[in-house]
Amino acid sequence: MASSRGRKRIVVLGGGCGGVVAATHLGRKLGADHDVVLVDRQANHIFMPAFLFLMLGERRPQDISRSLSRLQKRNVKVVQSEIVGIDPSHQEVTLQKEKINYDYLIVSLGLQTRPDLVPGFAEASLHPWEMETALRLREALANFRAGRIVVGVPLGPYRCPPAPYEAQWMLDGYFRQRGIRDRVEIEYFTRDAEPAGEAHDPVVWMDTESKQRNIKQNYEFVVRSIDPEKKLVKGLYNYNLSYDLLVMVPPHRPAQVLLDSGLADTETGIRVDYNTLQTKWENVYAIGDCADMPASKAGGVAHQEADVLAHNLAVEITGKGRPVDLWLHTI
Ligand SMILES: Cc1cc2nc3c(=O)[nH]c(=O)nc-3n(C[C@H](O)[C@H](O)[C@H](O)COP(=O)(O)OP(=O)(O)OC[C@H]3O[C@@H](n4cnc5c(N)ncnc54)[C@H](O)[C@@H]3O)c2cc1C
Repeated sequence: MASSRGRKRIVVLGGGCGGVVAATHLGRKLGADHDVVLVDRQANHIFMPAFLFLMLGERRPQDISRSLSRLQKRNVKVVQSEIVGIDPSHQEVTLQKEKINYDYLIVSLGLQTRPDLVPGFAEASLHPWEMETALRLREALANFRAGRIVVGVPLGPYRCPPAPYEAQWMLDGYFRQRGIRDRVEIEYFTRDAEPAGEAHDPVVWMDTESKQRNIKQNYEFVVRSIDPEKKLVKGLYNYNLSYDLLVMVPPHRPAQVLLDSGLADTETGIRVDYNTLQTKWENVYAIGDCADMPASKAGGVAHQEADVLAHNLAVEITGKGRPVDLWLHTI
């Protein structure tokens, strides 16, 4: 797929929160005069914040999935494929079966979960950070009648820093509703008391909220490994936590294709200009969880970045309107 002169091709990588919003705006603003192409390995957009409700049986997978093909109605061509290479020097993206050239590239590939980074994690933790494990957690919770549930977070970035706090409170509510809260102990561990990327104020009320719900908070706790046989989370300095059910967030890292192609060179993603979201490569932008921004890895952030970037690119391409500034607000 080569792009022709005058007519611009904007390629959006990723059909998650950031990619869908950016492609939708660009398709609407540019109409049939230019080409907007969105690529994702999945046929569906999955609304990940609802994984917390999925784990409690309050949503089903089909309630939180929408076919990306619906974007075709908005002048967006959708290609379902694994993205295997990105070459900014040739303005080219390699898919499984073809190469696509772009005039503008928006990268919104999120973060990938890396259970392998904590020994024992894959066998031990059931968590709502992926659809498949959220469904297994739903089963485990439904069958849980008494014992110790430990919720916790790894070092490094992960999707939605406040979500594990919400998870522990939702578990508290779930067991109260089932009338067995007095038979279920809930504990939480984290190194940093406040969720990364958020303002410092929440920590006070979050800590209070957890204590009011009788959830013990273990701060400064750094996981080294998990022993699934003995059901032990092993921390630094020989601090251990025993569990019957472990709900730990997996470590997250940039998508492999971003590491392989050299676009992401930090643990927290692709370096971007904080105002324009431009990378060091011409006409290559990154938004959402894969962008190394001083902000929470959150859908709300991805959405705001996508709004502003799509608007500013449309202004640049059409010469109509004025660019706007990026003013991020999280919680
Ligand atoms: C339990 C949970 C609760 C959350 N709660 C909230 C909340 O309350 N509020 C909030 O704002 N955010 C929340 N989030 C975070 C939010 O879901 C993410 O921050 C958001 O989805 C990031 O959007 P994104 O576009 O950057 O990446 P993603 O939504 O992760 O999308 C990335 C896309 O890229 C695709 N992709 C990746 N690599 C490739 C490849 N090589 N080839 C092809 N396709 C690829 C993936 O399939 C995916 O569709 C929550 C997340 C979780 C897990």
